Amino acid sequence: MVLKVTKILAFQTLSGIYSAREFVWWYNGHPDYSGLKPDLKSTDTAVILGQGNVALDVARILLRPTTELASTDIARHALSALEESSIRKVFLIGRRGPVQAALTAKELREVLGIKNVHIRIKESDMSVTPADEEEMKNSRARKRIYELLSKAAAAAGTSKSDPDQRELHFVFFRQPDRFLESNERKGYVSGVNLEKTILDSTESGKQIAVGTGEFEDLNGSLMLKAIGYKSVPINGLPFDHKKGAVPNVSGRVVSQTLENLSQTEPGLYVCGWLKRGPVGIIATNLYCAEETVGSISEDIEKGVFKSSKAGSKGLMQLLEKREVKKVDFSGWEKIDAKEQQMGNERNKPREKLVTWKDLLAAAAAN
Ligand code: NAP
Repeated sequence: MVLKVTKILAFQTLSGIYSAREFVWWYNGHPDYSGLKPDLKSTDTAVILGQGNVALDVARILLRPTTELASTDIARHALSALEESSIRKVFLIGRRGPVQAALTAKELREVLGIKNVHIRIKESDMSVTPADEEEMKNSRARKRIYELLSKAAAAAGTSKSDPDQRELHFVFFRQPDRFLESNERKGYVSGVNLEKTILDSTESGKQIAVGTGEFEDLNGSLMLKAIGYKSVPINGLPFDHKKGAVPNVSGRVVSQTLENLSQTEPGLYVCGWLKRGPVGIIATNLYCAEETVGSISEDIEKGVFKSSKAGSKGLMQLLEKREVKKVDFSGWEKIDAKEQQMGNERNKPREKLVTWKDLLAAAAAN
């Protein structure tokens, strides 16, 4: 058998293929993507590439009853489209196995608990190797995810089949090779070609997916790529391309020029994914921000950048000089109040304003 290393998904420009980022921004009412109009009516099958929490979020939106979504802060245009959606089957494609799925237990439990959704997992995908056992021994989180998926797989075998039911398929050991173009609708996607994979242990102990050279097609006219994010370097800042982050010590940016890497650039800090790479749940970002703010406070006390920075006043002057349009905190509060008031009228926590024009008008209102 010829083994190939795992592939980076080739990006093709067929209609019906979206990045999960575009899709998430669409249903959350981001002004740049509120006009996306994904076609949810021409197919009963959506395929999500990747098995991280973003993939789970997208699956949840596609499968959750719209009567339940109606009382959330989902954008109105997305709710209307989902009410008319014909999607009944969602496939989540992972290039590795259930022990390696990049999910967190709370998010997985929420998806497994969606009303009237049947979970489908092949029993053969749930078998574990000694290397998997070792991974689970070293990580309670991995073990928990595996147990939740195992339980769902076992329950799937006993559930009755109803033609109108919604299904969520967890497909393991498959990596995307290429998208397929529809014969009937030129320029539109009709499926994805998947390569079967097996796991190979690296020197570090991590198991990675390698292609086996065996392929199969999966049909569907809605394809969503949820294969993670990568920060981009910023001019003038050091960048660790492998980690996709700015090298730092507790948020203090490590100096590019000095030999001793623990020496940091005074007054320069990073936070969030630029600091740690594109990982972590919301709470992780909270602790991450606290750490960076702690470093800034400590440095202020130590007098590290005493009078060298002009602070917020200097920032405002710079924005004005560059003629940058800005919404200040009181503008943000007005947007927040307006959205909550609109939501109140519709029995939801908020109704999002989804165009720049409406947002700026709300921020400028008296
Ligand atoms: P992620 O957690 O990094 O997951 C990416 C998924 O795509 C993995 O299954 C990964 O497989 C797969 N993948 C990556 N490259 C691939 C390739 N070339 N071909 C096929 N598959 C590929 O990314 P994410 O889901 O975008 O989430 C980003 C971060 O935000 C995560 O830390 C996540 O937990 C967090 N998040 C949190 C919440 C929440 O708190 N509720 C919600 C959404 C996101 P491998 O594992 O094999 O690389």
